[in-house]
Amino acid sequence: MARSNDIARIFVPVLLGLGGLWLPSVSAAEVKASARANPAKNAVSSEVKKAPEAEISDEQVASAISDLRTRHLLVPIDGIPVERFKGSFFEIRGETRHEATDIAAVRNTPVRAVEDGTIEKLFLSKLGGNTIYQTDPSKKYVYYYAHLEGYEPSLTDGAKIKRGDIIGYVGTSGNAPPNSPHLHFSISILTPEKKWWKARALDAYEVYKPK
Ligand SMILES: [Zn+2]
Repeated sequence: MARSNDIARIFVPVLLGLGGLWLPSVSAAEVKASARANPAKNAVSSEVKKAPEAEISDEQVASAISDLRTRHLLVPIDGIPVERFKGSFFEIRGETRHEATDIAAVRNTPVRAVEDGTIEKLFLSKLGGNTIYQTDPSKKYVYYYAHLEGYEPSLTDGAKIKRGDIIGYVGTSGNAPPNSPHLHFSISILTPEKKWWKARALDAYEVYKPK
């Protein structure tokens, strides 16, 4: 733990100085801190299991992105420009892609539901910390929010929520560096079995980016 702290202390101030490169840099710090703390595992903080590519084709991914773009999803943290999402999905963590977006924010900043839907599970995960799995109204997609400081107290498994509802607060739970509070957010396509823990992630930037 002290090791992770040290790494974050060294990396974050250095990288803060890089201005526009701050977000990907925080991710790099996260990777290094986590790799040091847990050398045997890769640093992907999502625990959504990847659905085999055959189950959800590239064509389905493209179609899902078009579908999601018509929904005008909310950015889960107020005031964050969509351009910050760019590239995060493709960063390499350990031996796999990040397949999520890291949004840095002050600790305890409210996190909002990006769309109406259902809280499938409030899940405490080793890597993701306090996490939320939310499905959309059609249960085609799962929205995943991780490293939360805490949940909105009234939230329970199975709760119906509306776009914009506060569901949790930004933090560093799980393997996030203690000095780099951020939201780890991903959008995934559920397989026909509709198991919220098994899905194929897509690049959220493609959903949110301007035309
Ligand atoms: Zn992340």
